Parts: sequence; C-alpha cells; structure tokens
Amino acid sequence: MTASAKKIPVGISSCLLGQPVRYDGGHKYDVFINRRLAYFFEFKAFCPEVAIGLGTPRPPIRLVKTADGVRVRGVQDPLQDVTGALADYGRQVAERQDDICGYLFKSRSPSCGMQRVKTWHETGMPGRSDGTGAYAQAIMQACPNLPAEEEGRLNDPDLRDNFIERVFTWYRWQQLKQCGLDPARLVDFHSRQKLSVMAHNQAAYRRLGQLVARAGRRGFDRRIRQYEDELMAAMRRLASHKSHSNVLQHLQGYFSRALSAGDRTEMSRLIEDYRAGLVHLSVPLTLIRHHLRHHPNDWALQQTYLEPYPRVLSN
Ligand code: SF4
Repeated sequence: MTASAKKIPVGISSCLLGQPVRYDGGHKYDVFINRRLAYFFEFKAFCPEVAIGLGTPRPPIRLVKTADGVRVRGVQDPLQDVTGALADYGRQVAERQDDICGYLFKSRSPSCGMQRVKTWHETGMPGRSDGTGAYAQAIMQACPNLPAEEEGRLNDPDLRDNFIERVFTWYRWQQLKQCGLDPARLVDFHSRQKLSVMAHNQAAYRRLGQLVARAGRRGFDRRIRQYEDELMAAMRRLASHKSHSNVLQHLQGYFSRALSAGDRTEMSRLIEDYRAGLVHLSVPLTLIRHHLRHHPNDWALQQTYLEPYPRVLSN
C-alpha cells in the first residue's frame, strides 16, 4: 500500500488524535499515531464519554468493584453509574462500524482502557489495576477478532509490529470476504499467509493447513468462521526472534543455492544478528527481498511475510 492508496479504516479514542474531549478539557495527542500510522490508517474517532452525554469538561468517573461486578461510577457522585450507557454505546459502534479493521484505545481510561485500568473499592480505597474500560470491553466482546491495542503499548516495537501486522491481515481478509470467498480463493489467501502464521504459531499453522485442505467439502461457511478465528488468534501471539529466524532460514532455502559463498555467509550472519536482537527484522528481510528479485521463486515471492505492511512502519 502506498500513502496515496485507500487508507485502512481504524477506530480510535478521539483524545489520541488531539481532540479536546477529556474530562479536564485536554487531549492525549500521540505523535506516532498521528505522524506515522495516519498515513495508512483512516482513523474513525469515538469518545464514548462525550457520546453518552457527559460533556466536556465533566466530573471524572472511575471503575469500582462492587458485589454486582465492576461498575463505572462518578468519583464525586457515587450514585452516577454509566456502566450500561458506555457498554451500549460500545455495542452500537461495533455494529455500525463493521468496516473498521482495528481499534486503538486510550490506556488507563475507565471507558477506553483495554487492560490494567485502575479500580477502586466501594469504600473509596484504591484497588488493583486489573480493570477494563466498559466501552472497550463491549467493543472487544462484540468483535473478538478485531485487532485492538492501546497507544502506550505501541512504544514496544514487538507489540507495535504485531498490531500493525494484524490490522493489515484483517484488512486483506475483509477485502477477500467482500469479493466473495470460495475454496479456491481461501487456498490462495492461505498460501500467501503461510509463513506469517508459521512465525506466530507453528501449531496453528498446521491446524489452518488442515482446515484449508478440507475447505471444498460440506460446511464451507462454518470452516470460514473457524479459519478466521484461528488465523486471528494465531496472529495475536507475538512471534519470537527464534521463530522469525526459523522462517527466515526457511525462506533462504528458496534461493541460497544460487548465491555465492560470500552472499550466503552474509545472509546467515544477518539472520543470526536478528536472532541475537542486534538488528530489526526488516534488515534480513530486505536482503531476502533483494536476493529473491535476482533469483525469483513464485511461492516465496507471494508471501505476505516478505512485506506484511508498508516498510516505513517497520522502525
Ligand atoms: S479515553 Fe476515551 S472516553 Fe476518555 S477522553 Fe479519550 S476517547 Fe474520551
């Protein structure tokens, strides 16, 4: 995808785009999101607290653990309970925005936080940071396969790569479903996706292969749903340097015999440098793409693994 190509629709907490919607009238503009991801993602912004009518600025709310489960209540007015309104709005967004291919949530928010949100006891004493925002929870329950992440976790290169890769994978899968899926198209999609899945989860790689091999039989729609669930669960798992290195070595096998001894040594050394954490994955991948251009192999060249998303997002 180039910057001029159609952008991928991705949901986002409005404050991360710099919109002054926070309870104190401020925002949480995120540089990486706005300066890098925005080239490729068309952000669809939602502020659930504004959407349910709390206004800006507004008195703060927080997660409170009660006998009836975790509730979202006013800090100053414990009788204010917006749990249901936030969850309803999350379900509405999930239903109406079925074209979004990912979601970026604001961390630590009682509405938008995906995980580790601060909770409180009814006595007013602080509890553990193990809550989930009511709006984020509703979105994730309604769309369990939708790639979702928090802005703070994008500072971790592995988590960032994983989120971006999942968004692009989900986008390609949605496009395929819109074109109309049949067994042949599923086989084609899966054969392009194989090395990416292998890097994330070897066991899922085998299960997906078996699913696709049976795709032409009865129950195709059921198999599609299984494939989708299994694929996105596999991609959620972080690929380790070891598993990436194994896939890189596998790829190397498609052209290494055509290389000079010096080029082979350079290739192997870069893979080892990556395995040791000395260079980013894009370094050996760039060299592999270079060698595949000179010694083409159709199967290897079609792998999404070679460029799972635009290279400018790789570092
Ligand atoms: S974290 Fe969510 S609810 Fe809070 S200001 Fe941002 S978008 Fe609105």
